[in-house]
Amino acid sequence: MKAKNSKDIPYKVIRSRRATADIIIERDGRVLVRAPESIPDERIEDIVEAKRYWIYKNLAEWRDLNATRVLREYRNGEGFLYLGRSYRLLLVADQSEPLLLKNGRFCLRRDLVDEGAIEAAKVAFREYYIARGHERITQRVNYYAPKVGVIQGDIHVRELGNRWASCSPNGNLSFHWKCMMAPQTIIDYIVVHELCHFHHLDHTNAFWNEVDKVLPNHRERKEWLRKNGAGLDV
Ligand SMILES: [Zn+2]
Repeated sequence: MKAKNSKDIPYKVIRSRRATADIIIERDGRVLVRAPESIPDERIEDIVEAKRYWIYKNLAEWRDLNATRVLREYRNGEGFLYLGRSYRLLLVADQSEPLLLKNGRFCLRRDLVDEGAIEAAKVAFREYYIARGHERITQRVNYYAPKVGVIQGDIHVRELGNRWASCSPNGNLSFHWKCMMAPQTIIDYIVVHELCHFHHLDHTNAFWNEVDKVLPNHRERKEWLRKNGAGLDV
């Protein structure tokens, strides 16, 4: 993967054994060109040039969505999301666990933010979502896999970069820990979406038909995620 530049549009090129090139805007706003191995660099420049309007339009849309991104502060009263609901933060002195959700509050051990360094607090939240996520998402996958008609492998909840979920050829599933900040209905959509990739790896009509069989209102949920996804962060 290397950085390229077509005049003022910075983009990255990933070459692979694919037949045609396409352009995608990643969740972090980067422009990515996925191209066949054989295609020359100049041809990629041409493709980006030809799609200039589309790229600008989509980048503008991406900036709109990300303008809503929340910068959270780790102090008393700040809201943190869990399953679509916001819970206020309470810094506590004595607590064996770094972070607990108790009596409608996220109780965070004060020493994790005392030095003004919030990395330890972020880690505590991430680990909380991963632990709870593994339990809940496993339960949702077990519920939906028979409905989709597939057999899943191992389930992991972890840092997944720009993706909400991914599946491997042997049926193992990974989910981003940020899923646990979204409402249950959205988690279900992410689960069903990923399970349907066992039938179809791409996003063709055949794929969406499979999703539709299990979740007829998936479009609203997909739209919710598109609009609110950037706000799901700690
Ligand atoms: Zn997908």
